[in-house]
Amino acid sequence: MPDGSADSFLATHVTAQAAQQAGAQILVYHEVIGLLTEGGDGARRVTGARVRDVVGGEEVQIEAAMTINASGAWAGKIAALADIPVRVIPGKGVMVAVNHRLVNTVINRCKMPADGDILVPVHTVAIIGTTDERVSDPEMLSIEPWEVELMLAEGDKLTPGLSQSRILRAWAGVRPLYQEGYSGESRDATRALALLDHQARDGVAGFLTITGGKWTTFRLMAEKTMDKACAQLGVERACRTAETPVPGVEQGYYWLGHRLHEVEEARLQGDLVCECELVTRAMLEQAAVNNPTVTLDDLRRDVRLGMGPCQGGFCTFRAAGILQELRMQAPTASALQDAAPDWSVAYMQSPRHNAHPRPAAPKAGKSSLDNPNLLLRDFLQERWRGLTPVLWGRQLKQERLDELIYLGIMNIDHLPPDNDASPLTDFWEFDTTPGAQERREARDEEQISTLQSPSSSNRKD
Ligand SMILES: Cc1cc2nc3c(=O)[nH]c(=O)nc-3n(C[C@H](O)[C@H](O)[C@H](O)COP(=O)(O)OP(=O)(O)OC[C@H]3O[C@@H](n4cnc5c(N)ncnc54)[C@H](O)[C@@H]3O)c2cc1C
Repeated sequence: MPDGSADSFLATHVTAQAAQQAGAQILVYHEVIGLLTEGGDGARRVTGARVRDVVGGEEVQIEAAMTINASGAWAGKIAALADIPVRVIPGKGVMVAVNHRLVNTVINRCKMPADGDILVPVHTVAIIGTTDERVSDPEMLSIEPWEVELMLAEGDKLTPGLSQSRILRAWAGVRPLYQEGYSGESRDATRALALLDHQARDGVAGFLTITGGKWTTFRLMAEKTMDKACAQLGVERACRTAETPVPGVEQGYYWLGHRLHEVEEARLQGDLVCECELVTRAMLEQAAVNNPTVTLDDLRRDVRLGMGPCQGGFCTFRAAGILQELRMQAPTASALQDAAPDWSVAYMQSPRHNAHPRPAAPKAGKSSLDNPNLLLRDFLQERWRGLTPVLWGRQLKQERLDELIYLGIMNIDHLPPDNDASPLTDFWEFDTTPGAQERREARDEEQISTLQSPSSSNRKD
């Protein structure tokens, strides 16, 4: 059936870029920790928000004539900060990436929506999805073995042999589902968008919640929300969302071969930082300077660093070194924050060394670049999180190699802290307690025996 696949990281970047071109200021890594309110019963009004910079630690107060809560499955938690009840149903979905673009078009099973009924080619891989399970909290996203098993079994029905492929990683996301009064399974909850006018609904002015919907409807959701905001603010202006293309659209559709073509044409093989995803040094530097708070995980989303079969085994330490070099140039850099970022370039046309001037270094100061050891460990920890549910066969061997590189050669779990910075990832389990070495060795033995005697399950390779 006709279907398509889009890059949601790139779409987020270009949407942010369009907003900036229209005068928006974007604060990344800022968590809403409070809503500002004034007035009493019946005349309450939200007048802004208090946010905390999770990188720099500062708190910022933002005053606004209209505050819009667009926080997906967290919308209920944000609304609760102003004592407004909003019951979002968080619907967890697990996805599994297989190493290779097994199909060149989206494959759907034509039946009522069910677990594992869609296989989507995305860049160099294919993703089988998904489950739909109601969870109590949008952050309860652990992946159970049965969920991975189910995806592979259902995947075999769509594309025979899928379960025998090398499995790269598994991860989960959470859908924001909203249906007033509904208490059943998340699979059956409506996917319709929900715009909550808190003035009409709860007697609280200056505050709207937009939730529900789908990724594919995000621009429609934006349009409906802005129309409502304008009406409440007494602004009369025609909506231009439908006619306004996001920056980069003129570059045309994504072409899978574009990176290989550029690398071969410009002979950039020696500049590759990530061989799996063909990320050149110039691409990485460009993405880093376009992102003032850059972490390696940001770079992953921007240029697909570490998303291939080695899952960061070889590119992570190279990228950390390059960021460190950029950091050392930082005192001479000035224009980063003022430069208009051009994220669309990262995927569609990679900058070439000989065609682009060397980018200015990111600003030092609050940047995560101040903490190279932390950057390295945070990134490996994030990769590890997605690998643990699929550790068997060839990917297990790869992980054992990665572990030897980072723990054995680089001794990464004993790197001194750069300063008093705390990790950005919440999953932080490097064991430094007494006896850790013995426990690691025992685990190694166990892993090696698994490698030598594959289980009787269908996971052969
Ligand atoms: C497994 C799965 C498969 C899906 N497949 C499809 C599909 O094929 N097609 C489709 O159209 N849709 C699909 N969806 C649905 C789609 O992903 C969601 O509808 C969409 O992402 C919701 O966008 P959102 O911006 O409302 O919420 P989100 O994308 O969840 O964004 C909310 C953001 O708010 C942030 N946030 C939360 N609390 C705070 C705070 N206190 N301060 C600051 N920020 C905060 C969160 O970190 C998050 O980044 C799928 C969803 C899942 C889980």
